[in-house]
Amino acid sequence: MKALEEKILKEGKVLPGNVLKVGSFLNQQIDTAFSMEMGKEICRLFGDCGVTKILTVEASGIAFAFAAGAQLGVPVVFAKKHASANLSGETYAACVYSYTHQRNYEIVVSKEYIQADDRLLILDDFLANGNAINGMLEIAAQAGATVVGCGAAIEKGYQGGGDALRRRGYRVESLAIIDSMNESGIVFRKQ
Ligand code: 5GP
Repeated sequence: MKALEEKILKEGKVLPGNVLKVGSFLNQQIDTAFSMEMGKEICRLFGDCGVTKILTVEASGIAFAFAAGAQLGVPVVFAKKHASANLSGETYAACVYSYTHQRNYEIVVSKEYIQADDRLLILDDFLANGNAINGMLEIAAQAGATVVGCGAAIEKGYQGGGDALRRRGYRVESLAIIDSMNESGIVFRKQ
C-alpha cells in the first residue's frame, strides 16, 4: 500500500534494537481516517474469503483490526495479554514471546468468542518474527476454527516471520513490507 509506505517514511522513526516507531498514526495516536483506508485495503484483499471474525491481540492490533472489521462487516475479537477477572469460564491460551518487551506473556481468549465454524482472519499491527501471530494460530487451532489468512499493517520482512508462515501454506498479506531498515533509511519489498 503505497500511501502506508509514504506515511512510514514521513512519520516513522527507526529506534535502536530494530524497532520502528509509528506512534503518530498506529501505536499511540491513531490516524482514524488513515486506519479506515488500511481497513479498506484488507477488505479488498480478503473480502471474498468468507471471513466471519477477525482475531487480533491487545493493544496495538485493535485499531487496525477494528478498521478491517468495520469494512468487512465482521466482529473483532482481541486476545488479552493477561488472564483477567472478566474472563469467566474456560479460555483458549497461548504463550507468546514479545519482541519489543523481550519477555514471554500469555494471550487469552474466552471460549465463547470463537467457534469451530468461524473463518478467522488474524491481524496485528506488526509482523516481525511471527510470535504474536503464531500464538493466535494456536488459539484458532484450539477452537477448531478455520484460518483464512493472516495480515499486518507493517511486516519487517527481514525478521522472517511472515515468510515462515507463507512457507507453512498460510496466506499472509502485509500492507507494507520492510526489507531493510536502519538510521539512514527504510527499504520496502516490491509487492
Ligand atoms: P512478532 O511477534 O511478529 O515477533 O512481533 C510482532 C509484535 O511485536 C506486534 O504485536 C508488535 O506490537 C510488536 N512489534 C514488533 N516489532 C515492532 C516494531 O518494530 N515496532 C513496533 N511498534 N512494534 C513492534
